[in-house]
Amino acid sequence: MASTCSGVATEPPGLETQRAEIETLMREEELRVGESWYLVDCRWFELWKEYVKTGDQNSPSFPGQIDNTELFENLETYRLKERLVENEDFVLVPAEAWRKLLSWYGMVPEQPALERKVIDLPSTVKVEIYPVEIFLCLHSNMEEVVTEQFSRTDTIYTIQNVMQKQFEVEEDAEPRLWMKSSDTSCERLRNTQMTVLDTCLAPGMTVIMELRNADGTWPSSRPQIMRNSVEEQDTYRGQPGVCGLTNLGNTCFMNSALQCLSNTPPLTEYFLKNLFLGELNFTNPLGMKGEIAEAYADVIKQMWSGRHYSVVPRIFKTKVGHFASQFLGYQQHDSQELLSFLLDGLHEDLNRVKNKEYIELRDADGRPDQEVAEEAWRNHRRRNDSVIVDTFHGLFKSTLVCPECQKVSVTFDPFCYLSVPLPISKERVMEVFFVSLDPLSKPVQHRVVVPKAGKVIDLCTALSQATNIPASQMVVADVFNHRFYKIYQVDESLSCILDRDDIFVYELSSSCVDEEEEEVLLAVYMRERSHYRDYGSGGSNYSTSLFGHPLLMALPQSQCTRDALYQVFLQRLARYVRQPDPAEEVEEEEEEEENGEDNDEEEELYRNQPNGVSGDDIEEDSETAGPSNRVEQPQENTHDVTEDSEEAGTSNTVEQSQENTHGDEQNNAQSEPGSNGAEEEKTEEEESSSEQDRGSSTEEGQSAGGSTDTNSQDAADGEQGAAEASGKEEEEDEEEKDDAEPIAQVNKKAVNRRRCAEKKQKPLFIIQAVNSNGTTERGMADGGNTLSLSSPLYVAIDWDPDMKKKYYNESEAERYDKDQSMKVPQQHTTVQLQECIELFTTVETLEEENPWYCPTCKKHQLATKKLDLWSLPEVLIIHLKRFSYTKYSREKLDSIVEFPLRCLDFSGCLLRKTGTDSEPPSRYDLIAVSNHYGGLRDGHYTSYAQNKDNGRWYYFDDSKVTCAKEEQIVTNAAYLLFYQRQDKIRYPTLPPPDNHIASSNHDSVPGPMDID
Ligand SMILES: [Zn+2]
Repeated sequence: MASTCSGVATEPPGLETQRAEIETLMREEELRVGESWYLVDCRWFELWKEYVKTGDQNSPSFPGQIDNTELFENLETYRLKERLVENEDFVLVPAEAWRKLLSWYGMVPEQPALERKVIDLPSTVKVEIYPVEIFLCLHSNMEEVVTEQFSRTDTIYTIQNVMQKQFEVEEDAEPRLWMKSSDTSCERLRNTQMTVLDTCLAPGMTVIMELRNADGTWPSSRPQIMRNSVEEQDTYRGQPGVCGLTNLGNTCFMNSALQCLSNTPPLTEYFLKNLFLGELNFTNPLGMKGEIAEAYADVIKQMWSGRHYSVVPRIFKTKVGHFASQFLGYQQHDSQELLSFLLDGLHEDLNRVKNKEYIELRDADGRPDQEVAEEAWRNHRRRNDSVIVDTFHGLFKSTLVCPECQKVSVTFDPFCYLSVPLPISKERVMEVFFVSLDPLSKPVQHRVVVPKAGKVIDLCTALSQATNIPASQMVVADVFNHRFYKIYQVDESLSCILDRDDIFVYELSSSCVDEEEEEVLLAVYMRERSHYRDYGSGGSNYSTSLFGHPLLMALPQSQCTRDALYQVFLQRLARYVRQPDPAEEVEEEEEEEENGEDNDEEEELYRNQPNGVSGDDIEEDSETAGPSNRVEQPQENTHDVTEDSEEAGTSNTVEQSQENTHGDEQNNAQSEPGSNGAEEEKTEEEESSSEQDRGSSTEEGQSAGGSTDTNSQDAADGEQGAAEASGKEEEEDEEEKDDAEPIAQVNKKAVNRRRCAEKKQKPLFIIQAVNSNGTTERGMADGGNTLSLSSPLYVAIDWDPDMKKKYYNESEAERYDKDQSMKVPQQHTTVQLQECIELFTTVETLEEENPWYCPTCKKHQLATKKLDLWSLPEVLIIHLKRFSYTKYSREKLDSIVEFPLRCLDFSGCLLRKTGTDSEPPSRYDLIAVSNHYGGLRDGHYTSYAQNKDNGRWYYFDDSKVTCAKEEQIVTNAAYLLFYQRQDKIRYPTLPPPDNHIASSNHDSVPGPMDID
């Protein structure tokens, strides 16, 4: 602006020609925004007009050199006088006229040309006589202030350039500008393409230039760096790029994706060389006003400064969360989802296309692929042009064929990464517990291989081969919180069973003795009654809680009486339920006789329980059920059994008396007047919510799952139980033993029992009909004498806490064995990356939910679809679709995908012919991997990446970075693969350092550089 020019360059034409040329230019030239006009002193110009009018070269009105002296305040600053008036003080001449006048007359030495721009002010277009005068300074030295004038139409970038020259800023420094008004508030001038007018920079304001620190931070920002100590701040020197990222709470998915991108050379160099500064797109409605790109640049600059062990990407995370609410929280997310969002956000923030035109896409219509592909790519680039497109975008061909009219539709679509499926194994390994009929054998954990699409019967068949038990004698159940979450039918699909489910397979007795008789499937739960009454729910109730393992057994209908069941259970639980010593019985018998008075109380109780159920056969029960039909109650022992047995411990001469023969005819407190009627069968909704709860600890799940309930058994302790558990007939007893208890030991006990059958004894537990949740409900088994006719029939074995402590061996109950199959380490399936890529290009038929509209048939069709790779980008991201979500199943595929570190060759599967001189080769080398460890919902992300400068591999685990060997890289955790085309690989420029950490504090490298 301050350039001067005085010499006469050309011989002027004749005066008449001069007059005509200048007058024409002055008359015809219009004010066009951005063009320059020049101020000329009015008096000089009038003199010149007179001179050319005379037509006399020697006229005394010769004006001489152009002289604007009168327009300046002084001749030192050449600042324009204030309040000059057009056509009184000066005239405005268009640039062409000025150029001519200057060449004919020259200019007074040292004077600057008074060039002014035509600007577009909100209401008018005019020449800007008075530009904006602004103060300029550096953030690092606010004392040194320079005054400069800028047009309202100058961009911030112009100011930045002037400042860089003025303050001699180094060329590779990254500046950012702030505008400060008199009220001291500062505002970032982010968009350097904006004008002085648009940013409201007014005369008298100050523009401050800040330069990024060598460590990647900004002087004015709070450092985003973790440092071990203050002194490390300036002393740490490491390999640029070898820098951890602090986990901000479940942000490993973000850190893993960032490390892969950070180690993508073309992208990182684009940022390190500040090329992004000129391409920030502040106006793209699809972008994020440049904020994601700037925040990303901050992270990259810091990571590649070589001055940090680890960076805290807090601002970046906040920005990501700001623009994509799904990443706002700190829940665990998918690194691929974040990568996809980030690539898209960076692309739009750096899109060189400021105004996207609408482009109508054309179908191929039989045109050659080459033509259609080039057109598609051209159209894509017309709307999308950025470093992301340059680096990561490729093109694939999609071919749809209508099954009805054979219409073929070909389109070419850009992609940013390839999502390739993993071959899904048709087999599945399941771990289940097998519970034998033999009461003395522990459950055995088996690992069996079943068809993935199989049914429950396939699981039974597989287990049958391992156990030699016929599959027809097995029942499969899902056990959760000590109860059956689900009992499976043999024709149900195995996909209903998740790997984390606890699956128990129960052996059932071969068949009923009496073929006529129907068999009942009995589901048996263990419950413990609380010591305390639940006063809150009606006064006389006790709560119960489930414990231990439930059981499944098949019994003839006739054995489903309380008496029979009591014996069956005693035998079935023999491994961990101790039978009382003979001595204990004596004490009990004696006491029974002393304590008859308790019966009154019990009778009273039963009268209050109209829904009582008797323990024995149907005919009798129907007569005796009801409050008034009381039969004499056997005398009960009210003493604590524990005390009894301790006293009786030495008298072992007495025969064991196992039997309890109490109140057969009595109504038992089967149902409960005081029970909570809200305990219904699980609804659909409860089912799903309890499924979510299943991962929680047993105790949480138990209280949430409603497995406690209140029983209305007044005096529901030992003596009550005796009255409830039904007596047992000897014949039944024998029958049952013959049928289900082949074990010698059990038989021996049974003999003992028979001998003492007539003796009365307090039972170890009482039996209750319950629902599938293990809770007792009002009206269950109403009036029935057998427990129920339904199958499965749910019953609970209710223990008094003291009895349980004494007779129930908890640690034995929990024991199980591992089958040989469990000892073989589980093999991971191995597939080749090439197989996954082939699967990607396999013809598939569209699914019902996602049909294709056939333009010929004019309706939706389940077309066949084939994808082919047409062209590949410089950096190819391959997403291994390990997370498989279908209508029927959700799983993580943990196959090992064997991928090459070098020379991944696509020449075989690229449709576009390569290998010619103009085509790049299609061979790729690995540069980074994002890993996912763990299952569907939880897990941890890390990454392997090769440093672009030293060629070494590193393992990035949040803030921890360790050296890695190539042979570590291929694992079944690999999730995202980054490949770079070989022709673009710049071999390392730095020799691999033996110790790339200068700081003496960290001599341990290579090794963990954990700074958490
Ligand atoms: Zn069709």
